Amino acid sequence: MKSRDIIPAWSRILSGHKPFLALEITKECPLRCPGCYSYQPNHVGEGIALGQIADFRGRDLVERCLALVRQFRPIHVSIVGGEPLMRWRELDVLLPELGRLCLEVQLVTSAVRSIPVSWRRLENLELVVSVDGLQPEHDLRRAPATYRRILENISGHTVTVHCTLTKRLLSRREDLKEFTLFWSSRDEVRKIWFSLYTPQESEKTEERLSPQDRVDVLQDLRRIREESPKVHLPNSVLDGFVHPPRSPEECIFAQVTTCMSADLASLIAPCQLGGRPVCAECGCMAAAGFTAIGNYRLGGLVRLRDIFAVSRKVGLLWARLRGIGNRT
Ligand code: SF4
Ligand code: SF4
Repeated sequence: MKSRDIIPAWSRILSGHKPFLALEITKECPLRCPGCYSYQPNHVGEGIALGQIADFRGRDLVERCLALVRQFRPIHVSIVGGEPLMRWRELDVLLPELGRLCLEVQLVTSAVRSIPVSWRRLENLELVVSVDGLQPEHDLRRAPATYRRILENISGHTVTVHCTLTKRLLSRREDLKEFTLFWSSRDEVRKIWFSLYTPQESEKTEERLSPQDRVDVLQDLRRIREESPKVHLPNSVLDGFVHPPRSPEECIFAQVTTCMSADLASLIAPCQLGGRPVCAECGCMAAAGFTAIGNYRLGGLVRLRDIFAVSRKVGLLWARLRGIGNRT
């Protein structure tokens, strides 16, 4: 979220809406990344994984997405999957339509296939490409979206590289610096983002970070961002990683975002991760940013999260009075 979005976002909250919309536009993905939350067995609901639900194609998909935008009236739309580029033809129509509605759009992709040239002209579009560490590890985890393919497919575009740090990726701490140097040197890369892996309850995998891993990696990230101007990691986000929300109810990001799965009817809860994520180990960059903003004291007195809580109550009451219902 940009600072100019704060007032519009607040006004959406006061009118009983959530200002952010995340759409899983397809259940299809040619990758099978370790730690992927989309294909967890409880992602969409108890015992319902993304692959089990219906999804849409063609004009039907475009119209249904636009109908959700009209219903929820967000100021920002995230397009995720599955792999959104599996529906690039539909996006070729949808993205300009969202631009005409003056909506900021973030599209999160593995860059497994070529990105249409015409998208370079879309000023409202931010392309975020997921990369899991250096080439040998990444290519093992994310084939067929290998380094070679990513570099071919982002050529001529401007992208943000996003790396989610898992325990496996941290086995060689010096890799983090090498990773940052590699992607910083690419002309196509405008920014580099880091998130930390967020586990699900009872998860025992090689991805999950220990408390000490989190301390160590945050220390490394503080140093790396000083050396690499493309690393976008403000203090607010780092502080949010150190003090994540204790529950979805405390998570401002979860409270202001509507997440819809690929049937464009099922809500993903409590946040875009679905299932039962461990908030105390949250590594979501957006959640961290919102947490830090919420802790800011206006005029040194009232915390923004308290103002947010009151605004949200006012908004929900207002929505009920107008009969908007409880899906916003
Ligand atoms: S590309 Fe994304 S949706 Fe596909 S398997 Fe990997 S993490 Fe999951
Ligand atoms: S984004 Fe993080 S803190 Fe917020 S609900 Fe999800 S797991 Fe919890």
